Amino acid sequence: MNTQISEPIFKALDESGKGAVTAKDIQSRLAQAGLSDDDPRLSALRDRLADCGNDPAKIIDAATFAEILQAGQSLVERAMKEELVIPQFSVFAEHLRTLFDEVKSNRSGDLASYIPQLARVEPEQFAVSVCTVDGQRLNLGDAGQLFSVQSSCKPILYCGALELCGGDYVHRHMGREPSGMSFNELSLNNAGLPHNPMINAGGIMSASLWHPELPMADRFDRLAHLIATLSGGSRPGFDNAIFHSERDTADRNFALAHYMREVGAFPRDTDIFKALELFFAACSVELTTERLANIAATFANGGICPPTGIRVFTDSTVKNCLSMMNSCGMYDYSGEFAFRVGMPAKSGVSGAIFAVVPNVLGIALWSPRIDSYGNSARGVAFLKRLVETFNFHNYDSLLDSQKLDPRARRQTIEANATFSAINAASRGDISELKRLVAYGHSLDRADYDGRTPLHLASVEGHVGAVRFLLAQGVEKEPLDRWENTPLADAQQAGHERIVELLARSKSVGTRGRSKGRKPKSEHRPRKAA
Ligand code: GLU
Repeated sequence: MNTQISEPIFKALDESGKGAVTAKDIQSRLAQAGLSDDDPRLSALRDRLADCGNDPAKIIDAATFAEILQAGQSLVERAMKEELVIPQFSVFAEHLRTLFDEVKSNRSGDLASYIPQLARVEPEQFAVSVCTVDGQRLNLGDAGQLFSVQSSCKPILYCGALELCGGDYVHRHMGREPSGMSFNELSLNNAGLPHNPMINAGGIMSASLWHPELPMADRFDRLAHLIATLSGGSRPGFDNAIFHSERDTADRNFALAHYMREVGAFPRDTDIFKALELFFAACSVELTTERLANIAATFANGGICPPTGIRVFTDSTVKNCLSMMNSCGMYDYSGEFAFRVGMPAKSGVSGAIFAVVPNVLGIALWSPRIDSYGNSARGVAFLKRLVETFNFHNYDSLLDSQKLDPRARRQTIEANATFSAINAASRGDISELKRLVAYGHSLDRADYDGRTPLHLASVEGHVGAVRFLLAQGVEKEPLDRWENTPLADAQQAGHERIVELLARSKSVGTRGRSKGRKPKSEHRPRKAA
């Protein structure tokens, strides 16, 4: 690894300035950036750390650090320089924790009762997981608890059908319009087809298109494999009791399949009983929100699973599916949800929801009490609060709103970093200055008055900060807009040691500002704005 890259990052981690960091320093910086210990992309880095003795307190020098950074490829470097899609992930995570605690007190809704097994789950459970397109992850509440995915399997079945058969063929057998009716309504569109892939009729149709040539066991195996790859992990669970419970109480779904067969909606030779079985099995697949968030993130990432980097669906399959989720994914609340929340999402009667902010993140929520539409009451409440806080609604980019944007843009990072550097210098906060250096920020940048970190450290009498800035090779005689240098500031404030330090350090020229420029005002600030 190029030491020009690794050195500043090393210095930022080396808070004590002793020329050494520990494995713990590295791990905690990665955790702050949202990269988990079990991230598959970090396995080489973990091996490299293990080579160093696997002792979290073991000292790692700059050369070894450069090798470790190399093992983490650009991911670790980007994480440490706050260049992942959500640069300040720990701040974002803190907001989500607050929303989670707030929504937890919401006990509205009831357990789904029409599938007996669903009526028996512990209603208080609540989980939220996030995975960004860079694989930054957060898990809150019961994120390790398995639940049956129910209708949140429909986007997967639909994408599977699109990939196998192509969009034209698939849409010869289902429409693309919201039905405006209940998810299991005994109703087809004017062409005698399911209204869309997100209601039960559409789910059964997608299931019928999934490898109909194979024996049932293989059809399910392939689906389980697809879900494993999409969710970046091992084979998903399966709740056999739910499966039987579903099948034994599925009069409406049987009726729907018979109706569709009667009007010729299925491809020729479809075995509707097998299609139904596969649909029930897909609804009975068990995941945690952690895994479901990886699926949502794969959708957000145009079909590539972020933690593994494996392409699972083409980008056009994902685009088509997100369009359907956006208009039809939240039962009869879909229109209102698109208006108020503005994210493609799909829910299931188990209280699962997954939602997508394209190119940013996927989020999975689970809480078993559902509202009158069939959507998790807490899930919807959380997503509403989420878009009140962050500009994640599809059309938020049109507004000049006060909402937070966690995907900070480069200029914003630069502006904030300049402000932070000046502020840190005025407080003598050397570790913050080191952090900014690691992110590639120049400590020479001045504010609109031409005040640099060196001016502020000098006028406030912070000897250590002045020494640190000089050691970083900053410009020693920058002129502010009143044509004052840090030395003049230190002299005027009577900070003798700083005067000595600055006088001793050799001038390497001025900042390129015109020396003869007239001051714009007589007012001369002493401190950072
Ligand atoms: N398996 C459920 C059913 O067929 C799916 C319902 C849902 O989650 O929307 O009723």
